[in-house]
Formats: sequence, structure tokens, C-alpha cells
Amino acid sequence: MKIGIVGYKGRMGKEIRDLFEEKSHEFVWGYDKDGEYFQKNPQIIIDFSLPEVFEKTEEYVKKFNVPLIIGTTGLQEEQIEALKALAKEVPVVQSYNFSIGIQLFLKMVDILKDKIDGWDVEIVETHHRFKKDKPSGTAKMIKESLNKDVPISSLRLGNVAGDHVLYMANLGEVLSISHRALSRRAFAEGVLKSAKFVINKKNGYFTFTDVI
Ligand code: NAD
Repeated sequence: MKIGIVGYKGRMGKEIRDLFEEKSHEFVWGYDKDGEYFQKNPQIIIDFSLPEVFEKTEEYVKKFNVPLIIGTTGLQEEQIEALKALAKEVPVVQSYNFSIGIQLFLKMVDILKDKIDGWDVEIVETHHRFKKDKPSGTAKMIKESLNKDVPISSLRLGNVAGDHVLYMANLGEVLSISHRALSRRAFAEGVLKSAKFVINKKNGYFTFTDVI
């Protein structure tokens, strides 16, 4: 497929481009701080940038009339609503985490969440020093799955790709679920899976949970 990437010069943008090209897909369009790179019209747009770029992404998705995969974190509530409206015209996959491991993590949370009444529950997330948003979108997803207001601690250390730990404790024991992304490749693989899932759909709003 012919792909376009918003934020193509960034860490995730480069990882996604490398993986798709390794699998014989073509990078044909990009948008970043210094403007547009154009070779051909893309068949799908992938956005891993910043929330302030969202309106541009929306504009290009409408212009090319193609599916959108968006992994940018820290989106505002109105932007999520705008994505849902856009999904009436084209298919959209939105997730704050495109790794398989975090999907399994969320399934475990779903099993546990009703069995830890009265326990202390806290989330700790660690990411590289360049990460702009805090707490991470994934930590927010874990909190949302728990369906209760729990504290999130955020550490910004070195070049960590993404660690999440959910701690649960009563007076006699501590239970934890943890996930570590060893590199950005795990997220790029999830984006490729999502692209194959969405490329021939007409419209609709999907999460990565729908993809796997
Ligand atoms: P990055 O800073 O390396 O890349 C962001 C890119 O966006 C850069 O190339 C930057 O130049 C570009 N950009 C910034 N402002 C812009 C503007 N005004 N107009 C056009 N382009 C602009 O960041 P990253 O580590 O690649 O992460 C990108 C996003 O993806 C972040 O929101 C991050 O949290 C998110 N992320 C999501 C997942 C996931 O699985 N959903 C995984 C990793 C990262």
C-alpha cells in the first residue's frame, strides 16, 4: 500500500516508515514541521505527531479521502469527538498504544477490576526524556479500564520506550501487572496490522482492540 505519515520525521514516523518499506509498502506522502513531502497520493494516512497538528491531519484525510490511523497522545476531548465525526466519512483507528502486550494488559485489568475493592491501586509509567505529554495516553487507558480514579506517577528517564506498571495491594500482599516496550518496533507492528485491517473499510471508528 501507499502510505502517508504525519510526523514522518519523528521517532515513531521513522520507525513506521522503515517497517512498511521493509514489507514492500511505499512511503509516498508526509507532513512535518517544515511542510509537505509529496510523491503520490497516499492510500492511508498515519499520524504520530502532536495534538496541535490534529486539524492539519483532519484536512489532509478529507482531501485524500483515505483511512486514518492515529497514535498521537494527549488529544483533547473535542479532538476525539472530531475523530468520531470524521469516522462517518472514512475509517479511523485510534489508540494511545499499538502494542499487543498492552492489549493483553487491558484484558487482565478487565478480569481484575471488580475483585480489588478496598485495595490500594496505583499506576506508574516511565518514558524517555523527550516525551511531551504526562501522564502517558496508555496510563490513561489503564485508568479508564479500571473505571476508578487512581493516582498515576510519571517518570521521564533517558531513552525508555515505554514502561507501565499497575500496582494493587492489600495489607497482606502486593500484586502487579507490568509491560515494557523494548523498542518502538512493537508499536509500528501494531500500526501495520491496523493498516491491513482498515484499508478496505468504508468508514467507522475503531480502536486497536477491534483490530486484534
Ligand atoms: P517525535 O517528537 O519524535 O515526533 C513528532 C513529530 O511531529 C516530529 O517529527 C515533529 O517535527 C512533528 N511535529 C511537531 N509539531 C509539528 C507541527 N506543528 N506540524 C507538523 N509536524 C509537527 O515524537 P514520537 O516519539 O515519534 O511520538 C509521536 C507521538 O506518538 C506522540 O504523541 C507520542 O506520545 C505518540 N506515541 C504513540 C504510541 C502509540 O502506540 N499510540 C507509541 C509511541 C508514541
